[in-house]
Formats: sequence, structure tokens, C-alpha cells
Amino acid sequence: MNEKLLKTIEGRVDDLVELTADLIRFPTINPPGEAYRPCAEYIGERLKKRSFGVEYIRGEGTPGDTDRYPRVNVVARFDGRSPGPTVHFNSHIDVVEAGDGWTVDPFAGVVKDGRVYGRGACDMKGGLAASIIAVEAFMDVYPDFPGAIEISGTVDEESGGYGGVAYLAGKGYFSKPRVDHVIIPEPLNKDRICLGHRGVWWAEIETMGEIAHGSMPFLGDNAVRHMGAVLQAFEEELFPALDRKQTKMPVVPEGARRSTMNINSIHGGQTEDFRPGLPSPNVPDWCRLTIDRRFLLEENIAEVKSEVTSILDRLKRERPKFDYDIRDIMEVQPIMTERDAPVVKAIAQGIHEIFDREPDYVISPGTYDQKHVARIGHIYDCIAYGPGILDLAHRPDEWVGIEDMVQSAKVMAIGLDLLLRGKTR
Ligand SMILES: [Zn+2]
Repeated sequence: MNEKLLKTIEGRVDDLVELTADLIRFPTINPPGEAYRPCAEYIGERLKKRSFGVEYIRGEGTPGDTDRYPRVNVVARFDGRSPGPTVHFNSHIDVVEAGDGWTVDPFAGVVKDGRVYGRGACDMKGGLAASIIAVEAFMDVYPDFPGAIEISGTVDEESGGYGGVAYLAGKGYFSKPRVDHVIIPEPLNKDRICLGHRGVWWAEIETMGEIAHGSMPFLGDNAVRHMGAVLQAFEEELFPALDRKQTKMPVVPEGARRSTMNINSIHGGQTEDFRPGLPSPNVPDWCRLTIDRRFLLEENIAEVKSEVTSILDRLKRERPKFDYDIRDIMEVQPIMTERDAPVVKAIAQGIHEIFDREPDYVISPGTYDQKHVARIGHIYDCIAYGPGILDLAHRPDEWVGIEDMVQSAKVMAIGLDLLLRGKTR
């Protein structure tokens, strides 16, 4: 055990709590992308005092980027005394809207009963604060460490990461030789290592029809009924088939250990805002359906798509007047970092030392910024590891446990030590 490192972290609990509460007080709500710049600057100013080189990088022209809501990211780097690998801690600073049902002010950084409350407490300002405390303690105990440490606070993870990690990865911030190991302190629990996530295919299907008077539907062609035929085929064929596709990926919760598809939305005919409270008098000539298909390492995206398009093509052959369009909205490949990857082994050893047990290895049902690190940056030595309970994310009275943050900070510091100084104690 590295007593000195762990004791140093224990001595900084107040700092850790204050840092977490301060971060929560920036209402970095996305959308629209509120308070990104002051939050990034707060992180940058703190690390500048520690002699980090600090850059603010705006995701110019990315979705939502305007002068009112600039997509400002912060990347801080500290080079050690001698060459060596770089460890990068990446946290998103954006949070989702507070919503209703809170018993505390979601942006006050309330501390009570051993917890810090607020929107983003667990997802993921607590993890960001824990990583900063871990890094600072490590640098104080081992000022002569080799290699380099980076800490970033990035935007827009909650809306796809285009102005944040994706933008930075496109500029080389998440590639070799600059970076070797990436840890993303998302709230996956202090004793679990998240190796990756399932894949995503979002698409919009449109059926067409022909407008006519609602009293004489036989004169037109009803696009909503065509979509009904699509949904019926999904119910009868596709959903049962997806249920049967199990995966070896250790996805949590277990219900997500198979292929899934959500119908996100369906719209057809004249919109309600056009005639509030009144039904449309017409035969609808269009209907659009959005699907969110989550797929597995064992599947490939071409097959995933053809399962859907083959149903649509068959309807086109068999159902009179049926025609459709399909448009991709988003594609993400599934990812699973190897268990013997250096960053996995280093954090596993930290968990072993702090909790005296082996970590659980998990896969997230949904995606997070690891996709951009892998796909654009080509860094595969990447995991999510951080304090907080995922189920609390995005909910009212979100909180992070102070002791959980302290323990995770210790695990991160031990992992950092192993990756940079390469010593196993
Ligand atoms: Zn998150």
C-alpha cells in the first residue's frame, strides 16, 4: 500500500467536497450549453496554479455553438521531469436539465449527510473533482514522476459529444503520441470498471401516402396505416428475434445483455401545433418513425440495418402502394477494451488495494465519449471509472457520496502511479 499517497488524499476531503460543490454551482445545462466558459475557466485556473499548461478550445461550428452558447472545452497538461506515457482524465462538464421533483436547489451544491447534492453531482462533476484531487495528490507525493498527466473538461457529452471529445479528437487531442491511456470518470460505481458500450443505430423511417378528404379515404393513400404495417411486422418478427440475441458483453443492467430496439417517436399527418386540439381533416400523406437500435459486439451494423430494410422491402413488394425512405441519424460501433489493457490492469489493482476485492467488469447499455476516443483518436486503452451510482444520473435529488469520491480518488491515484511510475506495490 502506498500510505503516503492515500493519506494525502484523506487530508483533502474538504477540498474535494468544496471543488465538487463549486462545479455544481455552474449551471452547465445542455441544451442549450449554459455557463460552459466560466466552468471551463474555473477548472483551468485551478490547474494553472499547479503549473499545468492550459488551453481553452472552442468547438467552432459544432451543433449548438453560438456566441451566446460557445462550446468551450478545457484541456490541461503537465509534463513530468522525464519522458514517459501520458495519462488523460476526461470528464464532461455539461449536465442535463434539472427537471421537477427536487427537495434541494439543484445548482446550490448542497452538502448534507455525507453527500453532495445537485444536478451533475454524480454525472459527473463528482468524478471530475475526484480525478483532480487524485492527480494533485500524486504530483505532490511524487514531484519527479516521468511522463505526463492531462485533465480535460469537455462539453456536450449529453448530446453526442460533437462539440467536445469528438471535436478535440479530430484535432489530435486523443491520439498517440500525445496520449496513451484515457480514464473517463463517469458514475459507474467505485468498484467497477466499465470497458465500453453497446453499439447504436438511430434511424428515421418514413412512409408516404396521398392526401385526400378524411370523409373519402379511399381517394387517398394513408401513410399512417402503412406505418402500422411496419410496426406490426416489427412486433411479430423483429422484436422476438432481437430478444433471442444474447451477448457475452457484461452489460449492466442484465436486461441490456441482448439486442434492443426502442421506438423513439412516431408522427404522421397534420401536426397538432397546426390545429391545436383539433383533429386533422385529411388522409395523412406522410408518417415518420424514429428507431433506436442498440447492438452487440457479436453483430455487425450492416446486418443490423438489413434486418429492418428487409422487412421494409418485403412490404414494398407485398403491400399495395407501400413506399418508404430510411435515413441514418447516428451510428456508433460497440466497444469493449481488453481486460489485460494497461489502464484496466492499473485501475483493477487500485480497486484491489482499496476494497480488497476484484473489480466487476461491466459494459454500459448506452454510449459515452469513449466512442470518439476510439473511433476518431484510435486510443483503445480507455475505460470509464468513477464514483457515483449510475441510476441517480439525470434524476431529481441527484447526489454523490463523499466517501465514494475519496475512495475513487485513491483508486485513480494508485492507477496513475502504476501507469506512470510502473511500480506494483
Ligand atoms: Zn455522464
